[in-house]
Amino acid sequence: MGELRKTDAAIADIAMRELKRQQETLGLIASENYASLAVLEAQASVLQNKYSEGYSGKRYYAGNQFIDDSETLAIERAKKLFDAEHANVQPHAGSQANMAVFYGLMEYGDKFLGLSLDQGGHLTHGSPVNFSGKLYKPIAYHLDKKTHLIDYDEAERLAKQEKPKLILCGYTAYPRKIDFKRFREIADSTGAYLMADIAHIAGLIAGKVHDNAFPYADVVTTTTHKTLRGPRGAMIMCKADLAQKIDKAVFPGLQGGPFDHAIAAKAVCFQEALQPSFKEYAKQIVKNAGALAGELKGKGFALSSGGTDNHLLLADVTNKVESGKVAQEKLEKAGIICNRNMIPYDAKSPFVTSGIRLGTPCLTTRGMKENEMKQVAELIGRGLAAKDDAELAKLGEEVRSLALKFPIYKDVKY
Ligand SMILES: *Cc1c(COP(=O)(O)O)cnc(C)c1O
Repeated sequence: MGELRKTDAAIADIAMRELKRQQETLGLIASENYASLAVLEAQASVLQNKYSEGYSGKRYYAGNQFIDDSETLAIERAKKLFDAEHANVQPHAGSQANMAVFYGLMEYGDKFLGLSLDQGGHLTHGSPVNFSGKLYKPIAYHLDKKTHLIDYDEAERLAKQEKPKLILCGYTAYPRKIDFKRFREIADSTGAYLMADIAHIAGLIAGKVHDNAFPYADVVTTTTHKTLRGPRGAMIMCKADLAQKIDKAVFPGLQGGPFDHAIAAKAVCFQEALQPSFKEYAKQIVKNAGALAGELKGKGFALSSGGTDNHLLLADVTNKVESGKVAQEKLEKAGIICNRNMIPYDAKSPFVTSGIRLGTPCLTTRGMKENEMKQVAELIGRGLAAKDDAELAKLGEEVRSLALKFPIYKDVKY
């Protein structure tokens, strides 16, 4: 180590400042996490030097015997972790994984059914500015206006009426459990594929605190860097009969050479997630989110669906400040990092919003528990009530001292 600083002091400084930012702030972005040093090390390894287009045993270049071992390990561990019949660990990111599924299972112009994007769906679930909305025809189901829970009856009605090729569940900003069995029944009623995008909740499923999408889903996509706490990247799992379609869609359909260092790091992440300690981690994420939700409700925050079953919550902040945007900006000044987010049936635009999304995976990785969630809720409340920047800066000192009690990395330097 130390080579980066010798070669490029500018980038080493930036990495050092980013490390300091992570250590000294409270990260509440629901899609982020802090990967282990083992995961970081695998990613920084010589495995990144190899070209290995194709799959284990069927590569286009020579010299892949060790890369094959690494990819095979990643696949075997992924299958075990999620009880999957087949896994493809090559997708570079979640969006590419979703793109490969669409490309493999649908024709251009085919209809698919997904949750309305302003209510918790991902960009790749049919946004008009995304490939999913441009090349395919999205039909939206919604959340119930009152409860903010998935309206399964509407999804069923739409499925029967529209006959989509594929039904998509799994979200970016939905704080409740998903009834995969019910979605299976809906898919069966019209002969559609059922796809579950578990990018956000993969760690909760791996840790057995949420129900698995298998055996109900035909195909499951996930990122590996959110609750699963691995390297940036993704994978696709599916029933054995779809394996060939999925593999072909990833390569040669969409991607070239796989990121072998990232695949090795995915294998490390799956190994970590197979340990009993990961179950404790997943359990604690959910406990912390519940505790944070309870504390915030006690302070008069309105939570979408009234609370949470998973790692995130959506808080309407308009009874405290003007908008989600203002809340995000005020909190950032105090070192509390979150993102503004639309609340279901939000009257404000996606750029402004009425709410913020708060997630506990990062703080839980640092070792925080229910007691700290109480403090975090208190800090959030005071941050939104702060009169000016000076007050926020002062609050920031308290935030910093809480954060520093729970270091993320010891002995990392750039
Ligand atoms: C994060 C996310 C993705 C996309 O992942 P990227 O790696 O950012 O491309 C896809 N689907 C859902 C539900 C997500 O939350």
